[in-house]
Amino acid sequence: MTGSVWQPGELLRLFEQSGAVSRGHFALSSGLHSDVYVQCALVLQHPQHAERLGRSLAARFEGTAIDCVASPALGGILVGHEVARALSVRAIFAERDASGHLTLRRGFTLTPGERVLVVEDVWTTGGSTEETIATIADGDGRVVAAGALIDRSGGRLDLSVPAEALLELAIKNYQSAECPLCRAGGTPDRPGSRQLRSSH
Ligand code: ZN
Repeated sequence: MTGSVWQPGELLRLFEQSGAVSRGHFALSSGLHSDVYVQCALVLQHPQHAERLGRSLAARFEGTAIDCVASPALGGILVGHEVARALSVRAIFAERDASGHLTLRRGFTLTPGERVLVVEDVWTTGGSTEETIATIADGDGRVVAAGALIDRSGGRLDLSVPAEALLELAIKNYQSAECPLCRAGGTPDRPGSRQLRSSH
């Protein structure tokens, strides 16, 4: 692996300075209130950061043979592409069809037994990654591991393959009726919208 990778302390600063991780009081599109909001597009909009983040995440899988990177659209596409660049393999993505299922379209195919790394931007429950793993398995590929820039699951992540995240964020989520930030008189920001909600 050539070039520099991010160290954990630097990473958090990068995400905070770019606005990808912001702290405060937020009403999420899920209805929960939270003290942290994560929007990876704000760091990935800078190609030089995206490239280095991809390299840093790829370095976590140095001991794993990987033929292809696959990501759930939209949130995973950029980071998957950069991880694939670092690994010198191709990057494909799964996207939702009319019935809401993640599928490989656009002529993307996998050869039987192809070793696939599934990459996403953020894990909240890991649901999209798990769904992508199932899609790859249906398409003859073999998922060998999964990676994400940020794990905000609070240690609850339970994926069916070995998983590595660059950054683990301890984030407090509250039911709105029990939110201590509201009880203290605060009004939450609403950074998400239904249209832009990602389905992690
Ligand atoms: Zn609140």
